[in-house]
Amino acid sequence: MHRKTFIKNIAATFGALALSNFDIIKALAPDPFTIKMLNDTTGIFSEKGGTILFQLNKKGIIVVDTQFADTAAHLIEQLKNKSKKAFKLLVNTHHHGDHTSGNIAFKGIVDTIVAHKNSLTNQKATALKSKNEDKQLYATETFDTNWSKKIGKEKITLHYFGAGHTNGDAIVHFEKANIVHMGDLVFNRRHPYIDRPGGANIANWITVLEKTVTTFNDDTKFICGHCHKDYTVEITKADISAFANYLKNVLNFVSAEIKAGKTKAAIFKATEIPGSEEWKGDGIERPLTAAYEELTANT
Ligand SMILES: [Zn+2]
Ligand SMILES: [Zn+2]
Repeated sequence: MHRKTFIKNIAATFGALALSNFDIIKALAPDPFTIKMLNDTTGIFSEKGGTILFQLNKKGIIVVDTQFADTAAHLIEQLKNKSKKAFKLLVNTHHHGDHTSGNIAFKGIVDTIVAHKNSLTNQKATALKSKNEDKQLYATETFDTNWSKKIGKEKITLHYFGAGHTNGDAIVHFEKANIVHMGDLVFNRRHPYIDRPGGANIANWITVLEKTVTTFNDDTKFICGHCHKDYTVEITKADISAFANYLKNVLNFVSAEIKAGKTKAAIFKATEIPGSEEWKGDGIERPLTAAYEELTANT
């Protein structure tokens, strides 16, 4: 169909719904991002890369993770439309590029950037290797096991429960709102990235998730970095437990295959993880490879 005819047809359809030309133009070129408020002041921004959590706090704007430089610019523009306050605090859940590449968009406009100490080390090492140190904006503060700061009526607490997706994943709790950003510690029904060079450990990751479930109360809302397209990044304790169970099933499956004398190539032919068939889509080679390496590391 010719573009002109296509637009005419669309216009006819929308015209029937009594929409203005402006709405038609907007419908043809929608915003590349989505913003969803979780309460009056706290919301999530999704475009490309890991989910961003933000709060329009009376003492200043709080942002968790930054995706990429171009998408962070969209976020900043939107938040500036919603609040006249300055950016008070930026948190990175971990060092991966789809969570920290947008930090640079906050250069000179944010007071404090905080991350786990291993996240900063990993971010610096990765930037050095990728020769893009000039495109980084690093944490101004790091922590080891816990970090807390009161901003207005909100209290932001970061927890570190040990190695999981990397060796520097912070769990970010907005205590008053009772919202937790899990970063990439949960991939909702999607095969996860498991960054072994970045210190990941599947066995310990399971422990981290079990500790998460017992640390927060039943009213806590959770969000995570990534999900399968048929699912959402808004998750529950049940989803966190299901992901812990998935990781257990990955280890059990690969371990049994190794014990049965299967070759690496044969193991990697698997198309699903027995017991966790809900995890569909591409990328199954990532957990299989990581589990194989983790299980054979000391033999
Ligand atoms: Zn990510
Ligand atoms: Zn990640």
